[in-house]
Formats: sequence, C-alpha cells, structure tokens
Amino acid sequence: MLDLTGKNALVTGIANNRSIAWGIAQQLHKAGANLGITYLPDEKGRQEKKVKELVEPLNPSLFVPCNVQDDAQIQATFDTIRETWDKIDILIHCLAFAGKEELSGDFSNTSREGFTRALDISSYSLVSLAAAAKPLMTEGGSIVTLTYLGGVRVIPNYNVMGIAKAALEMNVRYLAAELGPQNVRVNGISAGPIRTLASSAVGGILDMIHHVEEMAPLRRTVTQTEVGNTAAFLCSDLSSGITGQIIYVDSGYCIMGM
Ligand code: NAD
Repeated sequence: MLDLTGKNALVTGIANNRSIAWGIAQQLHKAGANLGITYLPDEKGRQEKKVKELVEPLNPSLFVPCNVQDDAQIQATFDTIRETWDKIDILIHCLAFAGKEELSGDFSNTSREGFTRALDISSYSLVSLAAAAKPLMTEGGSIVTLTYLGGVRVIPNYNVMGIAKAALEMNVRYLAAELGPQNVRVNGISAGPIRTLASSAVGGILDMIHHVEEMAPLRRTVTQTEVGNTAAFLCSDLSSGITGQIIYVDSGYCIMGM
C-alpha cells in the first residue's frame, strides 16, 4: 500500500493551483505525508499570501520562503527543517525558470546571462537543495525532480530550457550514485506538456498540447494529479528499487517516432 505516514516532505515550486507541485503536494498529503512548503518570495508578499491560502487545507507544518538563487534562503530553509522536523524524508524539486525572450526564436540567440540564469535556477538548484537535504536524510529518503522531453530531443522554442533539463537529468544520475549508499533515491519525472504559468512562457505551447492530444498513444495530455501520483509512488517504499531514473508520465508520447 502507498503509505507516507510519518514522512516529512518538502515541496518546492507551488505558484498556484495549476502548478505541478500543487498536484504533487496533494497526493503526498493524501498518502499521509507531513508537508513543508516553500514559495518564491516577492517584494510585495503576493506569492506568500497566495500560496499560503492555497496550501492551508493540506495543513503544512512548515511554510518558508526559498529563492533557490539565494544560498542564504536555502540555508535558512534547512535550518528551519532541522529545528522543526529533525529529519527530512522527501524532497520535491519542481521549479524552473528561463526568460520569455529565450523561449522562442533561434536557440543561438540565447544570451550568456539568460543561459546562466536558466541553468542556475532550473538545474543547479537540484544540486544545492540535495546538498542541504543530505545531512538531514538520516533514515534514507527520496528526491524527485521534474523534467521534460525537451531535455533529450529538440522541441520547438524550448531552447535553453532543453539544455537546463539535459543537465538536470544528469544531476539526477550523479546524485543517485552519490546518495544511494545512504539509501537516498533520486529520480526524475518527465511530464507531458501541461498548461501552467511556466509552460505558458514557452512559445507555441498550445500547439504542442494539441499535437500530444492527436499523437500520444492515450490521445490526451496528462494531469497534475497523474504526475502527483507518480511522485507519491517514487517517494514510497513501493519504488524502493528505483533510483537514477527518468520516468515518463506523458500519455506515452515519447515512444512515437513522428
Ligand atoms: P509553475 O509556474 O507552476 O511552477 C514553476 C515554479 O518555479 C513556480 O512555483 C516558481 O515560483 C518557481 N521558481 C521559479 N524561479 C524560482 C526561484 N528562483 N526559486 C524558487 N522557485 C522558483 O510551472 P510548472 O509547469 O508546474 O513547473 C514545475 C516544473 O515542472 C518545472 O521544472 C517545469 O520545467 C516542469 N515541467 C513542466 C511541464 C509543463 O508542461 N508544465 C512539463 C514537464 C516538466
């Protein structure tokens, strides 16, 4: 049975009720996990208010700001975890960012600044969060990140985010090799396209969604709940032999040869 009772789970990347991280948080809660939620702070405190209201029904025992570009905020997040929880069992890395100007047109127009920022937020952040979680995963654990087919194939307009996802998927393998002896598993979910704040920045995303609806074996896109269910599985003992893998939750689209 899928049971996460007694597990402390930190979920990053909830911006609103369309966020994949929201789908994951709901499924972890349903399976009995004790939740900690991070949000991306802004000057006016809007995100804090919005995310706080959204997650309230899940009764999180931690709610902390964490901009992954800021080492001090990462440190503060894990200091709070150490003081409040003592240990952490689950880390959900469900965030990414690239400037809108980098997500359409010629890939070769990617600026040095845009490249660095996309790789820093979308890929390096998994390394820094895993490093902070490592000493607190004293009873083993599971780390799950979100990736996309654009990290292994060329998808129109995905551009620099594809490079970030390729790097992210290698992060999964290197971290899995390092943390395995500590019984910490690290896996990625490659989700099919879903309408969210982040995906709306990618040029032509609606065309991609319609293409998946026509071509994928299941003839539809996937939902946040389906991704959430897979994340819950990857965080549970049911997947105890799985690490270093990228699991596709994409209605089977990636097997097609068109
Ligand atoms: P989303 O916009 O709901 O989530 C993106 C999150 O990243 C937001 O919560 C945002 O606050 C956070 N974020 C951005 N910069 C940050 C920073 N510096 N520090 C901390 N958090 C930051 O969109 P989503 O589609 O749910 O994206 C979640 C993950 O899923 C991303 O890694 C995305 O690439 C991946 N993904 C999305 C799709 C899709 O089609 N939506 C498909 C495959 C993979």
